[in-house]
Amino acid sequence: MSVKRMKPDHATTIPVTLSARAEVSPSFLRLTVTGADLDSYQPMGADQWFRLFLPSGGGLAADVAGDTGNATGTGVGAGEPRTLPDMSLRSIASYTLTRPSRRPLIRNYTTVDFRPGDPAAGRATAELDFDVYVDDSHEGPGLTWARDAPLGSAAALLDEGRLYAPPEDSTCELLVGDESALPAIAGILSGAPETMTGLVVVELGNTNDIRDLPRPSGVEVVWTERGDTEPGAGALAEVRRRGAPADLSYAYLAGPSSMVTGLRRFLVRDCGVAKDLVSFTGYWR
Ligand SMILES: Cc1cc2nc3c(=O)[nH]c(=O)nc-3n(C[C@H](O)[C@H](O)[C@H](O)COP(=O)(O)OP(=O)(O)OC[C@H]3O[C@@H](n4cnc5c(N)ncnc54)[C@H](O)[C@@H]3O)c2cc1C
Repeated sequence: MSVKRMKPDHATTIPVTLSARAEVSPSFLRLTVTGADLDSYQPMGADQWFRLFLPSGGGLAADVAGDTGNATGTGVGAGEPRTLPDMSLRSIASYTLTRPSRRPLIRNYTTVDFRPGDPAAGRATAELDFDVYVDDSHEGPGLTWARDAPLGSAAALLDEGRLYAPPEDSTCELLVGDESALPAIAGILSGAPETMTGLVVVELGNTNDIRDLPRPSGVEVVWTERGDTEPGAGALAEVRRRGAPADLSYAYLAGPSSMVTGLRRFLVRDCGVAKDLVSFTGYWR
């Protein structure tokens, strides 16, 4: 039995531009990005995620110009034109070595679909789709960019591979998340073998966001409505009420930090699930 995360062979930032935006359901926008170098992206399925590099300020300012600076160069002095921060950083290590004023903003998202470039199909370059949760409950630069950035806006992405890492012999799984984790859960389920069984719990603020989740027939999906409770509390209560599925071989928890840490504690301490069979990622706090 092995639990191993899949990482890309070469992690390097890929410049992209925003090419389409569509509403999936009341609180989800599907964004499409494209770029000449996007063909180098290696799709891995499941919950494959990437870091999206955005111009600081959300990339909505009209006065940004192409960046001529570098990570170690001298700063932009008073009166000099504002520049687009360096989105050609090769890695997170080079990002942390870059002066804060030169750093792009980073937000994390999950790949929903990837289509290689295919001129015969009318696609000159590859396209990548991702879904962003946008509603009135919160505001942030990632959300603002997703909602308002003009088509053609520049960004860059850094592939981070998959966090979903069930043991090879995994059969019965528990997947729990909120809206931010819905794209990941949908990706995991759509690629799951028909032999998979288990339980999926997704907490939503708006039940009009419920979507069809293609999945193996032995997997039950439960949607919980948030109401006035703290984000994640509904999903946590639902799993506590049901207990871990019998024969659980792997649990995948993603969403608000309080939810994932509370659930992990419940599974490990109260249900006796082995720690290494629980993947938990705070998607936001
Ligand atoms: C591996 C990974 C994959 C992810 N995939 C997706 C994805 O596919 N789609 C997606 O929408 N999100 C996804 N997320 C979550 C997303 O990165 C965060 O929600 C992020 O904080 C959004 O950035 P922002 O600039 O909009 O808000 P921030 O500037 O980060 O936060 C601003 C305010 O909004 C609040 N906030 C942030 N996110 C949420 C939320 N989801 N619900 C309620 N309040 C929130 C914060 O608490 C803060 O008060 C993923 C996160 C990770 C780690």
